[in-house]
Amino acid sequence: MVVTYHRPTRAIIHRKAIFENIKKEVKRLPAGTEMFAVVKANGYGHGAVPVAQAALAAGAAGFCVATLDEAIELRESGIIEPILILSVVFPSYLSVVLDYDLSITVATKEWLVDAQDILETFGENHPVKIHLKVDSGMGRIGFREEPDLKEAIDLLESSDKMEWEGIFTHFATADEVDQSYLKKQASRFKTMLENLTKMPRYIHASNSATTLWHEDEMLGNVIRYGVAMYGLNPSGDVLTEPYHLNPALELISEVIQVKELPKDEGIGYGKTYTTKESEWIGTVPIGYADGWVRKMQGFSLLVDGQACEIVGRVCMDQLMIRLPKKYPVGTKVTLIGKNGGKEITMQQVADYLETIHYEVACLLSERVPRMYRE
Ligand SMILES: *Cc1c(COP(=O)(O)O)cnc(C)c1O
Repeated sequence: MVVTYHRPTRAIIHRKAIFENIKKEVKRLPAGTEMFAVVKANGYGHGAVPVAQAALAAGAAGFCVATLDEAIELRESGIIEPILILSVVFPSYLSVVLDYDLSITVATKEWLVDAQDILETFGENHPVKIHLKVDSGMGRIGFREEPDLKEAIDLLESSDKMEWEGIFTHFATADEVDQSYLKKQASRFKTMLENLTKMPRYIHASNSATTLWHEDEMLGNVIRYGVAMYGLNPSGDVLTEPYHLNPALELISEVIQVKELPKDEGIGYGKTYTTKESEWIGTVPIGYADGWVRKMQGFSLLVDGQACEIVGRVCMDQLMIRLPKKYPVGTKVTLIGKNGGKEITMQQVADYLETIHYEVACLLSERVPRMYRE
């Protein structure tokens, strides 16, 4: 994939914001609790490696990713801390897992049986580090029944090819006001833990929302801190964060053409907008191929501290905005971030798209260069 550097559209990532967000959280953690920074999906679109480096400098003790390849990217960048892959890795990739010294998530007994057969063929090797996942109510992956979990633990304990490194669960509603389901999940997980005769090195349950708002439910000795470190409130704007979260990502561009059109001129594919009077129209080189989706038509961008509506359809590579007056080519356009005392937050974009900011961040395509500021 080509990253388009020779164009004024950029995502500016403020690493200081990530550093500070993490620092604040690390300071609040109970003694003996470590933070694993979640940098899956290219660090929620912010760039996995630069984010991981900032997280490390701020006190993260390990990392979580979603896929084997994301873990490899971190290792190859020189990160030596623990890396946990949160989703299921097929046993057929175990030699890669071992080569890169990664920790993996196991969600079924069957996986362990398959893995054992494969590991037997490897000869002498260090054991594969395994975190058992408990499905306490997310309904996604993990052990639901205690007997299954116990059998899995017995299997792990009897194998010298596998090391039981962790046990964890994931909460479905920690970002909501109503805590009843969270409490139910937490208590299920707690009961499972209480009935174990041995504990692994790492026990974890908390995502950002649990960590920010539900100290009582913060089971274990590790948190998996994701969206909040990017400066985004996990609940959107439902719950108030206990400390200021500083948004790390700014999305900017420039106008590449400015023209005055008379009344009744069409703008964009399908001529969905017609000038209502004589209007100044600016063209901005960003479109749905950059992750700024067509549904953003009608949303307002910031130019010189003023809201400028996206008029006409968003094209693949460009869009048009209505300017309040003539501005020179090269004038800065802010799509996310601050401009002239005003701000567009990722949450506002998410609200407009009827989605969550997590998705907005992940949508930004690889074509948009990520530029890092300290
Ligand atoms: C993505 C993810 C997290 C991080 O969640 P945030 O809401 O971004 O903090 C934690 N745990 C698991 C299992 C995840 O998939």
